[in-house]
Amino acid sequence: MAVLPIRTVPDPILRKKTKRVGVIDRSIKKLIADMRETLHADAGRVGLAAPQIGVSLRVTVICLPEEEDIILINGEIARRKGQRLVSEGCLSIPGYIGELYRAESVTVKGLDINGKEIRIKAEGLLSQALEHEIDHLNGVLYVDRLENADALRKIEPEDIEI
Ligand SMILES: [Zn+2]
Repeated sequence: MAVLPIRTVPDPILRKKTKRVGVIDRSIKKLIADMRETLHADAGRVGLAAPQIGVSLRVTVICLPEEEDIILINGEIARRKGQRLVSEGCLSIPGYIGELYRAESVTVKGLDINGKEIRIKAEGLLSQALEHEIDHLNGVLYVDRLENADALRKIEPEDIEI
């Protein structure tokens, strides 16, 4: 396992649509182990998508405080409900935070690390993190969703980065 450097804008890998994972083999398990270690390297990190460490595959890991890591392979949003204004940052856009609309709740489907189909119904921070990470898999960054340029500001110490 290794803590890997996080790719930041304008690295073109962040704008590429990722490929689906075919077989969950040793290389995918190693990728997930590295992603988990990279995520836990800093307590403020909530989620990571594979392109952020330079791998263009549909793999995300989310870790909420006091919760088990959520590993999602080939994740996609099955359903979005409602709308709410949130503040959001991104490890790949260091130093900034923006205001944008996210769903109130989402249902996400994909595979777990054993290849078993899973569905996750989420609200609150988990819902926001799932939308943010799945956006990464499609080459979308939160700054694309800002209401306007004024909705982006410099980060403050109490802000969290997804
Ligand atoms: Zn991000």
